[in-house]
Amino acid sequence: MTSRTVYTLPFTTTSPQLTAQIIGGGVVGLAIARHLALTHPVASTLLLERHSTVGTETSSRNSEVIHAGLYYPPSSLKTSLCIRGASLLYDYCRTHHVPHKRCGKWIVAQRPEELQALEGVYEHAVKHGVPMRWLTPEEVKAREPNVRAAAGALESPNTGIVDSHALMQSLLGGLVDAGGDVAVNAEVTGVVAEGGDGYTLTVATTTGDHAETRITAATVINAAGLGAISVANLLHPERRRKAYFCKGTYYVPVAAPPKVSTLIYPAPVAGRAGLGTHLTMDMAGAFRFGPDVEWVDSPDDVAATDGGMVRAREAIATYLPGVGELRPDYAGIRPKLHPHGVGGVASADFWIKEEDGYRGWVNLLGIESPGRLIPRWGRVVLTRGRVDEFPGDCGVCRWGFVWEGAFIDRMIPLRPSLLFLLHLVERCMAVGNLLD
Ligand SMILES: Cc1cc2nc3c(=O)[nH]c(=O)nc-3n(C[C@H](O)[C@H](O)[C@H](O)COP(=O)(O)OP(=O)(O)OC[C@H]3O[C@@H](n4cnc5c(N)ncnc54)[C@H](O)[C@@H]3O)c2cc1C
Repeated sequence: MTSRTVYTLPFTTTSPQLTAQIIGGGVVGLAIARHLALTHPVASTLLLERHSTVGTETSSRNSEVIHAGLYYPPSSLKTSLCIRGASLLYDYCRTHHVPHKRCGKWIVAQRPEELQALEGVYEHAVKHGVPMRWLTPEEVKAREPNVRAAAGALESPNTGIVDSHALMQSLLGGLVDAGGDVAVNAEVTGVVAEGGDGYTLTVATTTGDHAETRITAATVINAAGLGAISVANLLHPERRRKAYFCKGTYYVPVAAPPKVSTLIYPAPVAGRAGLGTHLTMDMAGAFRFGPDVEWVDSPDDVAATDGGMVRAREAIATYLPGVGELRPDYAGIRPKLHPHGVGGVASADFWIKEEDGYRGWVNLLGIESPGRLIPRWGRVVLTRGRVDEFPGDCGVCRWGFVWEGAFIDRMIPLRPSLLFLLHLVERCMAVGNLLD
């Protein structure tokens, strides 16, 4: 192993030959960074994450469902990315040994008007070539005797579940194995546009002395999830956008629940902020119900509470009458572009755009469900300050990890404080052995 430079903070670089930087180590940032590192091996890709490890926010607080693309407007990014993404994600999981299961999903209706909503879902699916079929009452009874679908039921056989943590570890492994770097405890707190020469980010360590460093890059991908609008506002305060946050709490049964082997969703309701309080399960088969809908003021308000439990239980009992007592388990927060009452999850689209007038700066905003689906989102972004369907060449530069206030060569695992770093590298290498 050759030794590389050890950088201590703060340091500044103004070299025009710079790297792609991705802000945010959730599933989206990881997927983009990995893709850029893989497709631009001579370039440098640096992922900046404010927490001590990747994937601790929304990407690990969701239903872990691989959506088939059933609910969103025909011409939306949600529909196109969801349909293509589901197939890419299944391929990725299969070839990279990420635990997943194509367990299928039912959408059930209890009243005539809900059946009408199901008909809309069916038509949409057929139009887009998404497999979907009606279930007969006999089939419902035979296959899921504990489930109620008084007015009708649809089956989406292509819906599945994925172990989101394993997925992110795999993406991280792919990123590091491809030569990309990850800076943890590294929060982007300031941005200066360098007039055509890229962007200088101020990065503060979130541990110790909160030392700051500045890094300039030709291309910046803002994939900061719940923090993405704040980061976008750092670039252009005059265009200040407002972020909205919609919490969803999950509940788990207190006693053994009735047996069910597929995901169960209620009929969609137009304008609702989520897809309804559904029944999903993890890879071990453990049930959870949720998420419900609670608008909150802060992205940090992530505690699971029982405020909405009675309402959630009533909603669940419509399709699973035998549901017993519940308790709150965990919650996730949807990053919303619109306030309560404006544009439900099915009508609001993702915002994935180069910022007008800021070449090379790409914002990904409002990446709520089904945002986990696109392991190759990197395809639509590129380095060298342009956005294009097929990336051009990256700038050239390399960085080490940020660890406890310093940029450190990842091949210097000598001090006790670097044990985590060593572990991370080992783990990535282990995963790396499975990769392409
Ligand atoms: C309740 C709920 C259920 C969902 N269910 C599903 C589902 O079943 N299927 C599906 O496909 N999708 C689902 N989603 C959506 C999915 O979870 C998200 O779309 C996806 O996880 C978003 O990933 P991300 O990488 O954009 O964001 P995140 O996972 O939030 O990652 C963003 C990262 O950026 C970091 N960050 C923020 N600000 C800064 C900064 N200034 N500097 C450095 N780092 C920063 C954060 O620490 C975080 O790690 C659900 C979402 C919720 C809330």
